[in-house]
Amino acid sequence: MKGLSRDRKMALINRFRGPKTGGGGGGQPRRRQTARARFEDFDAYQRIEVQRQASERLNISNPFFRRHEVRAGGTSRIDGVECINFSNYDYLGLNGDPRVSAAAEKAIAEYGTSVSASRIVSGERPIHRELERAIADLYQTDDAITFVSGHATNVTTIGHLFGPRDLIVHDSLIHNSALVGAELSGAKRRMFPHNDWDALDRLLTEQRDQVDRVLIVIEGLYSMDGDMPDLTRAIEIKKRHGAFLMLDEAHALGVLGERGCGTWEAQGIDPAEVDIWMGTMSKTLSSCGGYIAGNTALIEMLRYGAPGFVYSVGLAPPLAAAALASLTILRDEPERVARLQANGRHFLDAAKARGINTGDSEGYCVTPAILGSSIKAANCSNAMLDQGINVQPIIYPAVEERAARLRFFLSAEHTKEQIDTTLDRLQAWL
Ligand code: PMP
Repeated sequence: MKGLSRDRKMALINRFRGPKTGGGGGGQPRRRQTARARFEDFDAYQRIEVQRQASERLNISNPFFRRHEVRAGGTSRIDGVECINFSNYDYLGLNGDPRVSAAAEKAIAEYGTSVSASRIVSGERPIHRELERAIADLYQTDDAITFVSGHATNVTTIGHLFGPRDLIVHDSLIHNSALVGAELSGAKRRMFPHNDWDALDRLLTEQRDQVDRVLIVIEGLYSMDGDMPDLTRAIEIKKRHGAFLMLDEAHALGVLGERGCGTWEAQGIDPAEVDIWMGTMSKTLSSCGGYIAGNTALIEMLRYGAPGFVYSVGLAPPLAAAALASLTILRDEPERVARLQANGRHFLDAAKARGINTGDSEGYCVTPAILGSSIKAANCSNAMLDQGINVQPIIYPAVEERAARLRFFLSAEHTKEQIDTTLDRLQAWL
């Protein structure tokens, strides 16, 4: 960027941003320009090219798809360079724990690496139900069901349960997977400003009579900003309007509450007050896949009807075993949760003390450093890597341009010294 005029910079930034439409381009059907069908003509591809060329011109190397050569935890090795790592959701440092790896290896020895087909047709393995029982116990629900992807869990659950006569209301910062599920359902969709409970209440007052069922979808801990909902308020509103409440606990499990049980424990809520508990196994549980916990009717409907379960393979045995072993460690070693929470708190306090803009973060597993420009965020991320710190930039359109940031994920594995060194280097760069 150095040496460019302000107008030239803005022109490049605007090109870097690209239009906001989805994969095929949207809008009017386009006139056919060539006789051949070419992927190169897709708007989605051209946007990637424009970004790539702009990055080349601005001399910004690609901060995405970095190659970790070892188990990535609180530290990692990227292209031969040892670094402190903040781009990792393994909040309690369980990935690679010998007990988790041993459980996965035992499951491979017993059942192989795959169950090869849907559980409904080809049958399940004992480990599937053991895991689901443990998840149901955590939320004190009747039952639980697991899926092969966290993203697919939201898509297929919301898409299957709700339909065109229903309304889905979600927080403006809800994860993409819930949005895709809402779209798939064909239900009417409305969003309310982030954590604005009065706006949610008003919206439901206006809409409730016009629709059949209503689903409210929120997250336990928002992964862009590291803040939380007021669950008591959400429950009061959902009850008054006769709505279902779904809570995505992807970043709350293992993070919130003294025992890491998540939002219900942290906010002193009876888990039965939430209709659909959703979570992923890719983060604290050091595995892969997603889950839904709830009452028998909910789980049976999903088990016999959700396309992402009925028409998709069951969880691979080593992944089910790794998730179950991680849940057991979470139950037995709450000191890991305490370590993560202390790290999260220290990071937030130390960042604020250095004048870094941490937005609304409440200092748990994720805290952003808001830089206000996509180019600055990409440059800063690359500069930090050069100094042995791996942290991802979040740039437009994932967030608004003025909210472009570095996003730091904390882990129980980080040390206070690593956090202080990181923030000193960031402060110096800024
Ligand atoms: N929900 C939330 C809130 C997430 O952040 C993510 C992914 N990070 C998902 C769902 C999807 O989970 P997975 O990556 O395990 O598919």
